Amino acid sequence: MDLALYPAPDAGLYDLLVLWAVSYVFLMALYFGFCGLFHWLNTLYPERRIQSRPQKNLVAEEIRHSVVALISISLYVALGLFIQAKGWALIPLELSWWSVPLTFFVSLMLYDTWFYWGHRLMHTKLLYRWHSQHHRSIVPSPWANNSDSPVGAFVEQFYWVVLPFVLPIPPEVLIAHKIFDQVTGIAGHAGHEYFAAPSNRTPWPLLCTTFHDQHHGHFNYNYANTFSWWDRLMGTLHPKYDEIVQRFETAPPPRKSSHTSSPSAGE
Ligand SMILES: [Zn+2]
Ligand SMILES: [Zn+2]
Repeated sequence: MDLALYPAPDAGLYDLLVLWAVSYVFLMALYFGFCGLFHWLNTLYPERRIQSRPQKNLVAEEIRHSVVALISISLYVALGLFIQAKGWALIPLELSWWSVPLTFFVSLMLYDTWFYWGHRLMHTKLLYRWHSQHHRSIVPSPWANNSDSPVGAFVEQFYWVVLPFVLPIPPEVLIAHKIFDQVTGIAGHAGHEYFAAPSNRTPWPLLCTTFHDQHHGHFNYNYANTFSWWDRLMGTLHPKYDEIVQRFETAPPPRKSSHTSSPSAGE
């Protein structure tokens, strides 16, 4: 990779700063691009709205906090790549037909575990003060994805610095996982359900938007990020999650209508 995107083994502080800046610009572009996309989709498909309670317009506040939180999040991604390039962590595997899917999947599992327990920690009395900003959005909007305090961003995203020490993940796969995380995170805050499918409910571990929407709406359920395994295992899955996903699957297909009332599938 080019130096501006991926540091050489003799890279120094300047290269780290360049990588940080590039990561920030890239994550900001993803944030505004995909949040804008879901914001627009939501105006086209109001009948896909998940919660029926009124939504406070917190978009300006959510953007302000996200733009700040992404500064530290992009630093963690840049640091992970920098540490790996310097040879201070595990030597990454060569790209191959098996190393890419294997390390991507293992990283998904590791991150989901990290996120579940870190997120539960943020819900304790001691740490909640640094997570309360994210929960200002009871009916989430896509713009809420990165709306968190620097402490919240640290607990949930420092993973990208630790990852190269525990998994010989190729840097391209690390970047791909972070992109996947940003896009699915934004989709998870869309407030409208577009991804309901049998694979996203029991007995399958995948998720759709309803999963994290219920976390915002009910607070003590659905702490995980990528799979429902941890919540099912620890008894924190919302009892109506599967049922609501199924209802969205059988709801009439999305159609363009801007002012009709929403056949909301509950909260
Ligand atoms: Zn939370
Ligand atoms: Zn959230």
